[in-house]
Amino acid sequence: MVLEIENLTVSFDGFKALNGLNFKMETGELRVVIGPNGAGKTTFLDVITGKVKPTEGQVWFKGQNLRPYNEHQIARMGIGRKFQTPRVYLNLTVRENLDLICNRRKGVFPTLFGKPSKIDRRTVMGLLETIGLTAKADLKAALLSHGEKQRLEIGMLVAQSPDLLLVDEPVAGLTDEETENVGNLLLALAESYSIVVIEHDMEFVRQIARTVSVLHQGSLLCEGTMDEVQNDPRVIEVYLGQQEDETP
Ligand code: ADP
Ligand code: MG
Repeated sequence: MVLEIENLTVSFDGFKALNGLNFKMETGELRVVIGPNGAGKTTFLDVITGKVKPTEGQVWFKGQNLRPYNEHQIARMGIGRKFQTPRVYLNLTVRENLDLICNRRKGVFPTLFGKPSKIDRRTVMGLLETIGLTAKADLKAALLSHGEKQRLEIGMLVAQSPDLLLVDEPVAGLTDEETENVGNLLLALAESYSIVVIEHDMEFVRQIARTVSVLHQGSLLCEGTMDEVQNDPRVIEVYLGQQEDETP
């Protein structure tokens, strides 16, 4: 079990953003979490990464209770988070962005006193291949499309070899083609990593999802395959309710 969440509650001034949430995920799983706006999806990631401390309940990562650890310690324990907007160095090339992360992992000495070793170069080449940016390796990141930047940042996350990848809405604002590329990248990574993807885009969820967890008002509403979840009357009600709210 890579992640186990037990009776998790997060209160902001009495308002429960998460409310008695239970969640379990096996090692190697690719799990998609969906839910209407305000369901608690981002708070869910904030608690796992230690940015927000739970009011009640526990988060267990690879059998270890995360309660005593801060955000930095949790990241070092092997939980990597990809935020919604890409955070890459725009004035560096794609390769330099990846080099930086691969070197940072080993401390300052190799970065200060040596060129990247053969092994590093092979790691970076493998990463470039995985994220589909080999042909653009020597281009400044500023020149990449939004989707390519997303893939580069996912590559930078993978370079840190996390045991669990948390990805918040990776295809928001992407074209259909870029959405499919990011989907294929996540599917490829799912062969070797445990991944949680938070997502709104239903077509994208259909492309990548095996098991879908639906959050609503801070609790788990239901869980299953995309077909099971989409035909669940409770899910239909929650999403229809949201559409009605949006009409003026
Ligand atoms: P989602 O990502 O599913 O849209 P969030 O986790 O961002 O939902 O938010 C869940 C609820 O908690 C929302 O109603 C939001 O307004 C509230 N919330 C989130 N963070 C805070 C905070 N720091 N203080 C007060 N309320 C918050
Ligand atoms: Mg959110």
